Amino acid sequence: MRVLVCGGAGFIGSHACVALIAQGHEVVIYDNLSHGTTSAVDHISQLSGVDVRFVQGDIRDRTALEAVLSMGFDAVIHFAALKIMSESCRFPLLYFDNNVAGTIALLQAMQATGVQRLVFSSSAAVYGDPDAVPIKEDAPLRACNPYSHSKLVMERLIEEVCEARPSFSAAILRYFNPAGAHPSGLMGEDPCGVPTNLMPYVSQVAAGLQDRLHVFGDDYPTRDGTGVRDYIHVMDLADAHTKALELLRQGGCHVLNLGTGRGYSVLEVVSAFEQVSGCRIPFEIVERRPGDVAEVWADPSRAEQTLGWHAQYDLVRMCADAWRWQSMHPNGYQSAQVIELRPAAPSGGLH
Ligand code: NAD
Ligand code: UDP
Repeated sequence: MRVLVCGGAGFIGSHACVALIAQGHEVVIYDNLSHGTTSAVDHISQLSGVDVRFVQGDIRDRTALEAVLSMGFDAVIHFAALKIMSESCRFPLLYFDNNVAGTIALLQAMQATGVQRLVFSSSAAVYGDPDAVPIKEDAPLRACNPYSHSKLVMERLIEEVCEARPSFSAAILRYFNPAGAHPSGLMGEDPCGVPTNLMPYVSQVAAGLQDRLHVFGDDYPTRDGTGVRDYIHVMDLADAHTKALELLRQGGCHVLNLGTGRGYSVLEVVSAFEQVSGCRIPFEIVERRPGDVAEVWADPSRAEQTLGWHAQYDLVRMCADAWRWQSMHPNGYQSAQVIELRPAAPSGGLH
């Protein structure tokens, strides 16, 4: 298929592009570089041996999107969103504008150009504080911050379009906690500053960029008192996207959890990272982080039945790959400086 990958210059999108090209798909990346980098695009080309086409543009720019989509595409994969919960609480309008208005513009552009298949990045954040674990897709949805609300609204928009237009098909993929990096060490998660997520923060402590990890609470009702999450290797996520594209050949609207089905505590992540890196990870127990929940892990059985997919990589492998990326790129793609200095390119320009 010919696939437009919106947000393909970011963490998960860049890994998905490599997987898509390996499966014989043709990929064009559309990204406004608010978080992604052209270095990631260069590494996709290097790893896949294909000169990947890149368009710098914003998904809210419907005219630019239509111009690109009218080149003829079989599907869109939509990674393009702002994703930091704490930031979303400070800038809710920014999050709804970027994520929701962007998704409306994308759906309109797809309709105008006759593109009928969409794979969408959703999040386990839509479950909020779950009643029970493991979480199935039909569990109550309880967004509790602007980021997760925006994901819920985007999911609903996509479902409504599927209902209104039977020829339109979509896969809504609810990721649990993406982690790890490409095994080459060439691509990974660039937090663009101080990370908010656990795994990149632990990597930076191991590398000596942060002096210690702050463990947000040790009084949760979990096996060691720290929060438990379902970490999933980004290469497993990438693989699921190629399978979701195949599923869309059959039509329909599918909502699927992507997790391993197993939870690890913060201290278990620290211990695994110490084991693979050989570095001590100093930590300090601090107050709970507002909005955090005790335990979140997936029931991934629907994805296994529908996609024939299950996660291959375990926590040790995620830590090993994250550590390789961290060691080879101590300052990420150095995108923080590049973004500040880069002159604004016109929307829709080819790179
Ligand atoms: P990321 O920030 O690395 O990638 C997102 C990409 O989208 C970036 O390259 C950014 O420049 C681009 N983008 C953002 N807004 C855009 C816009 N308006 N127009 C064009 N491009 C835009 O994030 P990621 O970790 O790769 O996440 C990808 C998707 O997965 C997001 O939708 C995110 O909400 C979702 N998700 C991520 C996680 C996680 O922990 N990483 C967990 C669950 C869901
Ligand atoms: N966490 C932590 N210190 C950090 C970052 C995260 O103790 O610096 C904990 C957090 O409280 C949660 C787990 O690690 O229990 C995963 O947090 P992350 O932000 O990576 O993912 P999310 O909260 O979105 O599941």
